[in-house]
Amino acid sequence: MTQVTRASLRTLDAADPLAAYRALFRLPAGVVYLDGNSLGPLPRATVARVSQVLRVEWGERLISSWNVSGWMDMPVRIGDKIAQLIGAHAGEVVVADSTSINVFKTLAAALALNSGRRVILSAADNFPTDLYMAQGLIQLLGGRHELRLVDSETIAQRLTDEVAVLTLTHVNYRTGRLYDMAELTARAHAQGALVMWDLSHTAGALPVDLHQADADLAVGCGYKYLNGGPGASAFLFVAQRHQARFSQPLSGWLGHAEPFAFDAAYQPAEGIGRYICGTPPVLSMSALECGVDMLLDADITRVRAKSVALTDLFIELVQARCGKYGLTLVSPRAAALRGSQVSFRHPEGYAIVQALAARGVIGDFRAPDVLRFGFTPLYTRYVDVWDAVTRLREVLKKREWDRSAFQVRQKVT
Ligand SMILES: *Cc1c(COP(=O)(O)O)cnc(C)c1O
Repeated sequence: MTQVTRASLRTLDAADPLAAYRALFRLPAGVVYLDGNSLGPLPRATVARVSQVLRVEWGERLISSWNVSGWMDMPVRIGDKIAQLIGAHAGEVVVADSTSINVFKTLAAALALNSGRRVILSAADNFPTDLYMAQGLIQLLGGRHELRLVDSETIAQRLTDEVAVLTLTHVNYRTGRLYDMAELTARAHAQGALVMWDLSHTAGALPVDLHQADADLAVGCGYKYLNGGPGASAFLFVAQRHQARFSQPLSGWLGHAEPFAFDAAYQPAEGIGRYICGTPPVLSMSALECGVDMLLDADITRVRAKSVALTDLFIELVQARCGKYGLTLVSPRAAALRGSQVSFRHPEGYAIVQALAARGVIGDFRAPDVLRFGFTPLYTRYVDVWDAVTRLREVLKKREWDRSAFQVRQKVT
C-alpha cells in the first residue's frame, strides 16, 4: 500500500462521485456509523415524506388515500423499484411482510411445486431465522420433510435429486462471504432442485442479476442497506416463469384476484400480487420507498465500486495499524468474494464493540466472537474509515474494553 494518510483520504473524499449523498441523511455529529448493514440511517427525504403521508394523505384525505394517494399500489410499485437493484423484471418483486415470513411463503411454495421431494438443503451457518422458518414449516407439513444443514463449503457436492429446494443467504451475515449465485443455481437446477436466495445483505449493497443467474425465488430485507427504517417491510421475488404455478400458503384477502368482490372462496391473483397477504403498512412503506429511490438514483454499480474501496481500505488499515492486538480477519480478503462488510474475530469482541461505541464508532457484534463493520457508501467517507481505525487502535492499545460496563450483554448486540 502506498502511504495512506488522513490527508490523502480527504483528497479521495473530495473526488468521490457519491460524496453528495451524505448530506441527504441525518447522522449524529462525531459518529462513524458502521452498522448500516443492520439498520440503515434516516434519509432526510423520509422525514418529509412520512410527515406528508401523515398530515395530508391520512390526516386530510382519510380512506380515499387507498385510491387517490396510491396506497394500494405500494407493494407492487416499490417492488418494481427494488427489482431494478437485483436484476429482476417489473412484476416479479413485491414488498410485503417481514423477511422471515417471506422465507416461509417461498419455501412452502417451493415444496409444493417439487412435491415429490422431501429435502430443504441449507448451510449450517445460514441466518437463523431462515432455518427456524424452515423448521416450523416442516412441522406444519406433518414432519415429512427434512432440513438438511451442511457446511457452506460443500453445498455443491450435497445437491442431490432428493433436494426440493436449496436455500442460502447470498452474503453471509457473519463473515460477509458471497456465494456464486449463478453457479450454485445452475447446479441445483441440474439436480431438479429450486433455489431460494435471501438477499438481506445484498440488496442495496452490491448488484446482483437474478435473471442472469436464472434464479427461482428470493427474499430480502428493507431496513438494512435499503434504509427503509426499523422493521421496514421485506421483499419477495418469484421468477415470472413460476408465478402461475406457485401457490402461497398465507392466502390472505389482498392476494386474492378480486379482494373487493368479497367472495367466500380464495382465488389467487394473477402474478406477483398473490404474495401479498394483508393490508400494507403504509407509513412504513412510504419510508422504505424513499430509501429505495435514493439507491436507484445513486446507481448500484457506483455504490459497489466505493464499497470495495472502503472495505479494502479498512482491512489494510486495521492490519497495518492494529496488527498486534489479536484481531483475525474473518471476511474474505478478496473483494470479489466479499459483501459490503468486514468482520474480525477477537475473544473480547463484545467488549471491544461496546468500547468503540463509547468512542463514537458504531459497529456490532455477532456471537460468539465476531466484530462486524458494515460499509455503506452513500454516507461513509474514506476519512471515516481512517477515524474508525484510529479509535479502534486506542481501544485496543489502552485496553479500554476491559471495563465491567463494556462486558454486560444487552438484549440487542
Ligand atoms: C436481517 C435478516 C433477516 C431479518 O428477518 P426479519 O424477519 O426482518 O427479522 C432475515 N434473514 C437474513 C439473512 C437477514 O440478514
